[in-house]
Amino acid sequence: MKGFETHLLRLQPPSPSPSSLSNGFLPQREGVNNLKVPTFRPRSPSSPSMLKLFSSSTASRAHHHLSPAIRPGASSVDSPFFKALSHLTGLNRRSTSLGGRRVFFCSDNASDAAAEAEAKAAESDSDGADAKSSSAIVPTNPRPEDCLTVLALPVAHRPLFPGFYMPIYVKDPKVLAALQESRRRQAPYAGAFLLKDDPSADSSSSTDVEKNINELKGKDLLKRLHEVGTLAQISSIQGDQVILVGHRRLRITEMVSEEPLTVKVDHLKDKPFDMDDDVIKATSFEVISTLRDVLKTSSLWRDHVQTYTQHIGEFTYPRLADFGAAICGANRHQAQEVLEELDVHKRLRLTLELMKKEREISKIQETIAKAIEEKISGEQRRYLLNEQLKAIKKELGVETDDKSALSEKFKERIDPNKEKIPAHVLQVIEEELTKLQLDENFDVVRAQQILDEDHYGLSDVKERILEFIAVGRLRGTSQGKIICLSGPPGVGKTSIGRSIARALNRKFFRFSVGGLADVAEIKGHRRTYVGAMPGKMVQCLKSVGTANPLVLIDEIDKLGRGHAGDPASALLELLDPEQNANFLDHYLDVTIDLSKVLFVCTANVIDMIPNPLLDRMEVISIAGYITDEKVHIARDYLEKTARGDCGIKPEQVEVSDAALLSLIENYCREAGVRNLQKQIEKIYRKIALKLVREGVVPEEPAVAVDAEEAEIVTKLDVESTENHVVEESPAPAAKEPKEEAQNEKKAVEKVMIDESNLADYVGKPVFHAEKIYEPTPVGVVMGLAWTSMGGSTLYIETTVVEEGEGKGCLNVTGQLGDVMKESAQIAHTVARKIMLEKEPENQFFANSKLHLHVPAGATPKDGPSAGCTMITSLLSLAMKKPVQKDLAMTGEVTLTGRILPIGGVKEKTIAARRSQVKTIIFPEANRRDFDELAENVKEGLAVHFVDDYKKIFDLAFVSDNKQQD
Ligand code: ADP
Repeated sequence: MKGFETHLLRLQPPSPSPSSLSNGFLPQREGVNNLKVPTFRPRSPSSPSMLKLFSSSTASRAHHHLSPAIRPGASSVDSPFFKALSHLTGLNRRSTSLGGRRVFFCSDNASDAAAEAEAKAAESDSDGADAKSSSAIVPTNPRPEDCLTVLALPVAHRPLFPGFYMPIYVKDPKVLAALQESRRRQAPYAGAFLLKDDPSADSSSSTDVEKNINELKGKDLLKRLHEVGTLAQISSIQGDQVILVGHRRLRITEMVSEEPLTVKVDHLKDKPFDMDDDVIKATSFEVISTLRDVLKTSSLWRDHVQTYTQHIGEFTYPRLADFGAAICGANRHQAQEVLEELDVHKRLRLTLELMKKEREISKIQETIAKAIEEKISGEQRRYLLNEQLKAIKKELGVETDDKSALSEKFKERIDPNKEKIPAHVLQVIEEELTKLQLDENFDVVRAQQILDEDHYGLSDVKERILEFIAVGRLRGTSQGKIICLSGPPGVGKTSIGRSIARALNRKFFRFSVGGLADVAEIKGHRRTYVGAMPGKMVQCLKSVGTANPLVLIDEIDKLGRGHAGDPASALLELLDPEQNANFLDHYLDVTIDLSKVLFVCTANVIDMIPNPLLDRMEVISIAGYITDEKVHIARDYLEKTARGDCGIKPEQVEVSDAALLSLIENYCREAGVRNLQKQIEKIYRKIALKLVREGVVPEEPAVAVDAEEAEIVTKLDVESTENHVVEESPAPAAKEPKEEAQNEKKAVEKVMIDESNLADYVGKPVFHAEKIYEPTPVGVVMGLAWTSMGGSTLYIETTVVEEGEGKGCLNVTGQLGDVMKESAQIAHTVARKIMLEKEPENQFFANSKLHLHVPAGATPKDGPSAGCTMITSLLSLAMKKPVQKDLAMTGEVTLTGRILPIGGVKEKTIAARRSQVKTIIFPEANRRDFDELAENVKEGLAVHFVDDYKKIFDLAFVSDNKQQD
């Protein structure tokens, strides 16, 4: 110690006397001791307590003052002085090689440098052993430890840590003068002590504290000061701003004078510690790693990064602790605690605590910053993408969309005045603008899923719809086509329309034009009429709220005939893609654009649709279902819905296959499934009543689905309805005890529905076998008919009324229409001709008064397709020969006996199967229609295609004879 101090002492200039101060000693010192700190300006004068480490630029500037001997790379590393230093400061061993660069990171580098430079010169006198016992602080010039009496300067906000500088403002002129005086005396040191909290005042605002500092004097001030403080070098004084550089810890022992407050101090030394102690090492590593984390994440400490990276290798444990405590945002009490701690390990731990806290804060800061950034950048991104989209659209020339151009125009006009528009008005405007269009979805896979979800079978119909969607995808729009779904009632025309809307992501609106006679319903009334209303389309657009809904026009074949105007023509204007961009509603008296609306029409009979309308339509016909399909529909769709509607759980009911089959065969024979649906609902309602009577009431009633068809079904509506149905079964999983109790009863509760008890639920069978003859007698032949309700079999009966020469004539009954009456006449002629060819001597037709009847006389019938059946019936009577067993036929006949094609092949085939027909005769021209039928419809049928009646004759009579032979 002694040797070290001796050679340092030799570096000191002679103790300054008041006279030497004035005789030019000062200028000589300035280069060395008076640091170039003036380059530093506190960032804001309002924060005098700001701490800042001297940045590397200052350090490197100081570096230039170094003598060549200790410049980086110089061989000074080996000097006993540096050896001593590395020892003393507990340097990281690695850092000894950096000895040449050793720049104390606080402001007194220059003086150190000078000292070190001279130390080099005095190398020979130094004594390494003595050096070991020196203080951990690198000695500065003049020796700080000589300062045993110092001016006590109060600092308000944070203690000054060794190695850091702090600007303070001294208002008291006496203190300022004393400071200047001590600088002049080459002993530019003072003590910086943190002010304790004012016990009397609760205000802790910075201005109050500031005021307090300046008012406190002498003993009062001493009382308010923490005992432990820092020896600070007065690095510069500019006006009332004094920059202090912390050196070493002090403790006040007694007061020397009151004004300015001068105190006697003890220099505090860190308690000795073992540098190789694992715990201290580990703690310091943890401090370093936390420090690194904080420096990395917190932008506030970015300034310290450079200093840290430059000096970390040089940090001793005590200095590391000071560094950490000084830069972190701990409050003054915590910081003072660190300052007062002389046990290095404890100090490190305290710092570590503060650092960890700091890291948490910076993490929170980061998440807050991120969240806000995301919010801002999300909005910016949307704006940017929108702008890009606009540019791309413009570039591609697809910016032809009137609606989006229109909404753009609106937006442009609204944007500059946005602040002036009241918030609620703005909300409405924005809602209206976004309403203008729903984006369409042309995803074929998704559409297929939706169609399959909603409907069983109908594969050809679905295929047609998917084709339509695919075209929409390629063209980018599905406008310009009107789909017409035709078929008997209950085959799912309306519900397919709804599925298409869901698949295309359009809103759904349905209105029926059945019996509509008033054009005003479509075009709107003129406002001069009392009770005038806008037309259906305006009402539709208003209720759906988008410009591109799917509008289902139901029963278009039942359009009425008006006394004032023709509704069909009005519909034409509505539907025609060429005209409906400017559809004029009389009530509004402005044109509205309907070109985005997708129209789907439904009809039972295509023939009844006015031709100009039909022309513009894409007809998709749905023929009806065979038993097998109905079973599937009932099982997979109707039952589930009915069960959900009635709040019955699947495990409470079992409807057997036989019961279902019987229900379909004996109660619901029509082509569609609406009646079947009604019957199933009836069954489930009865079961519900039964269950309730038995006292089975669920804890939480199942969510009832509104069976009523809503006029407008949005996509969401449909989904939520389905959810209810789907969620039905697993719903009551939560109620364990109740569940158990119910389980016991379950065996009793389960309602079984079989063929035997079906009648208890739906009453006696409505249909009996369609076959009234088994086998058909002479003069009776089974024909196949097609009605708007689907296909059916019908018998043609002929019998002889009386016989006599020249009595030959034909009577017809059975509510036949003109066409059918005519075809009976034709049949009579053709049969007579054939008879003449086959049996020239047979005078049956010439001499018999015949009566032809088509049973179910209450049902009106018409159409030419029973021609061949009538001939066969007449011939059978003439030849007194019954036709082949299980044979049915259909076909229009000309006078020469040619067979012309008929309609409704699928319906007729289905009807034939229902009546257990084995052989069917169709016109040759219908072969294609039959071939297109699904395999399960054609299965097990012998079908003959004929173009001339003679072939039917062979099939009906001759082959039969052969078989009999
Ligand atoms: P339409 O409009 O042809 O008279 P709807 O569309 O009203 O008939 O259909 C009647 C009922 O039958 C609806 O509840 C519908 O869901 C159901 N339905 C019809 N066809 C099917 C099918 N293929 N799969 C499932 N349900 C069907």
